[in-house]
Amino acid sequence: MPCRLPRGPAAALLAVLCLGLLSLRLHSRLSPRGVQEHPGLSAPSPQPRGLQLQDVFIAVKTTRAFHRSRLDLLLDTWVSRTKQQTFVFTDSGDKGLQERLGSHLVVTNCSAEHSHLALSCKMAAEFDAFLASALWWFCHVDDDNYVNSRALLQLLEALPQDRDVYVGKPSLNRPIHTSEPRPHNRTRLVQFWFATGGAGFCINRKLALKMAPWASGSRFVDTSALIRLPDDCTVGYIIECKLGGRLQPSPLFHSHLETLQLLGAAQLLEQVTLSYGVFEGKLNVIKLPGPFSPEEDPSRFRSLHCLLYPDTPWCPQLAAR
Ligand code: UDP
Ligand code: MN
Repeated sequence: MPCRLPRGPAAALLAVLCLGLLSLRLHSRLSPRGVQEHPGLSAPSPQPRGLQLQDVFIAVKTTRAFHRSRLDLLLDTWVSRTKQQTFVFTDSGDKGLQERLGSHLVVTNCSAEHSHLALSCKMAAEFDAFLASALWWFCHVDDDNYVNSRALLQLLEALPQDRDVYVGKPSLNRPIHTSEPRPHNRTRLVQFWFATGGAGFCINRKLALKMAPWASGSRFVDTSALIRLPDDCTVGYIIECKLGGRLQPSPLFHSHLETLQLLGAAQLLEQVTLSYGVFEGKLNVIKLPGPFSPEEDPSRFRSLHCLLYPDTPWCPQLAAR
């Protein structure tokens, strides 16, 4: 039977419906990138073009005590190049940071303690903010990390977007073992790999959506409390023990728990993350001769930034060096 166009009230109803649908389509096309109407609920749609930095959500974890000593350095250096993509998660308001970051400063209700639960509370806030964005990659870093966004993008674009991806530096050279409480007072021994949070790690949206039942809202803190392990272990546990995924190890992420001096000058420019800190009682920083002295730039992040972005106004210009 040939299709017949309805007439009368049915036709009017259809026309209203069609107009509604059309305007919805137009509206969604005109919506700004990275903002979606129903946060977190959408499955990834096919990516029509290559990955860009605008597709990446970078979460920095910090705390009140480090706003001046660590955050200001990051804002002067790598964050200045990734402002639109970077969100800072802390536990206390700060006028200076607020002025520099605007809505990209997220003051959580998490406590300022260094307890597992306080740290997991921040990771949960990072994860939820990522789910609420429409971005493709979630990358977490600490406030003593330098992120080389060009190297990050190069790494991520080489990874398969149609598979679950969790990439970072394995914290140990073997899986961690723990007991998982089960119903009726039983426990089950589990083992899994995890990426060390202090070196940073990334998860693609496809995997992050699957993690939501154990990681969204208050569930991340519950999961962390259940296995009695810190936030970065909890991420690994959810991915491997709950979802059957696995960590893809990358040598390009670095924490200050490794000897950073061992990285050669040429290698430094290719690393995705770097760090600085005290390790076994000694200052552990990357080895760079300049342009700034160790007194002017103890972390070496300013010197690294000038090597990566020589056009930065506060970097000594080549001719003047
Ligand atoms: N941190 C925090 N609350 C605290 C202490 C630390 O949120 O009470 C954050 C800190 O800002 C950093 C991360 O946790 O991003 C790791 O802290 P830190 O580098 O001091 O310790 P590490 O674990 O690297 O030795
Ligand atoms: Mn650290």
